[in-house]
Amino acid sequence: MSLQSAALSRVKPSATMAADQKARELKAQGRDVLTLAAGEPDFDTPDNIKEAAIKAIRDGKTKYTTVDGIPELKEAIVGKFQRENGLTYKPSQVNVSPGGKPVIFNAMMATLNPGDEVVIPTPYWVSYPDMVLLAGGEPRFVPTSAATGFKVQPADLEAAITPRTRWVLLNSPSNPSGAAYTKDELRAVADVLLRHPHVWILTDDMYEHLVFDDFKFWTIAQVEPALYERTLTMNGVSKAYAMTGWRIGYAAGPEPLIKLMAKVMSQSTSNPSSVSQWAAVEALNGPQDFIKPNACKFQERRDLVVSMLNQANGLRCPTPEGAFYVYPSCEGLLGKTAPSGRTIGSDEDFANELLEAEGVAVVFGAAFGLSPHFRISYATSNECLEDACGRIQRFCANVR
Ligand code: PLP
Repeated sequence: MSLQSAALSRVKPSATMAADQKARELKAQGRDVLTLAAGEPDFDTPDNIKEAAIKAIRDGKTKYTTVDGIPELKEAIVGKFQRENGLTYKPSQVNVSPGGKPVIFNAMMATLNPGDEVVIPTPYWVSYPDMVLLAGGEPRFVPTSAATGFKVQPADLEAAITPRTRWVLLNSPSNPSGAAYTKDELRAVADVLLRHPHVWILTDDMYEHLVFDDFKFWTIAQVEPALYERTLTMNGVSKAYAMTGWRIGYAAGPEPLIKLMAKVMSQSTSNPSSVSQWAAVEALNGPQDFIKPNACKFQERRDLVVSMLNQANGLRCPTPEGAFYVYPSCEGLLGKTAPSGRTIGSDEDFANELLEAEGVAVVFGAAFGLSPHFRISYATSNECLEDACGRIQRFCANVR
């Protein structure tokens, strides 16, 4: 009998973590490796947030808390949604989980029955389909393309919705494409969703604050208030406040759903770390002035990477609106021969050959459900990016 459960056997380990791991192993062997695979900001958690955590420890805020978040953090989240998104929630409509990832997982565990479908546009964040599978549901993919900015087209979305559809997952700005939906684009998506009242919407707004060129961020419940009653608006402190290790994510939505998510937590994780919750209160209520300059730094890096990749033979790199990823196509290199003498037959081959030849770690597009592409995370220094993109150019020049 297999040790692995049937539910877990439907799931694959995270490809981004695997790529990062492979790069670490090569580094440990003494290879000169540049990693463009990690999905976290390279700057440090601001000092005021760290101090709030230290104070929480000193004040003895070190015990179990309410399962789905302390009242002070729920109030701070209510304030954030009102201030930044014009969305009005009560604290009882808020869930705090140990990271954005568990918010989504808890929502899926709380609501999916075997055979229930979840519509996921591709390319998707690696964890969506596997979380759906673990919860017993069936992912239903809707491909997008570079030609439409990697944004789901209303007719394609409509065609993917069936009577079994429980959720539609939206993610803007997107990991891995960096695509962000304008108000008009969300309006068109909302028009489709209005026609299907049995469908719930989970919008993953994790990269809300990382948008460029004066792009204005919108979230779907704000664009179409009629969807408020069936939308879970998810966000977190990981990316905007450089708090990936603290493990705090949150969401707001209808109270019955929030109660079910707390029920899942009550029998699994219990509360997120009490100390991290106090740090997150400070993150949301404290000074926000570093967010914009950080986004500007990321914009500079985006421009550097897009420009250098578009000078590489066989690559085409669209300019994304947000997040800290680009999702170039390597179609122009397929069927050609890598410096190793092997044929590049897929984006996975491309990533493997690039790592072997030039020591640059990227994540292949099949892991995000849309080939032939690869993802670069530019949440690293300009020097590292210049070096890495230079190596990518050299690799592409050496492909025959
Ligand atoms: N959603 C998206 C789109 C992400 O890229 C990530 C992290 O990479 C998460 C959610 C999860 O964030 P957290 O680290 O808070 O679990």
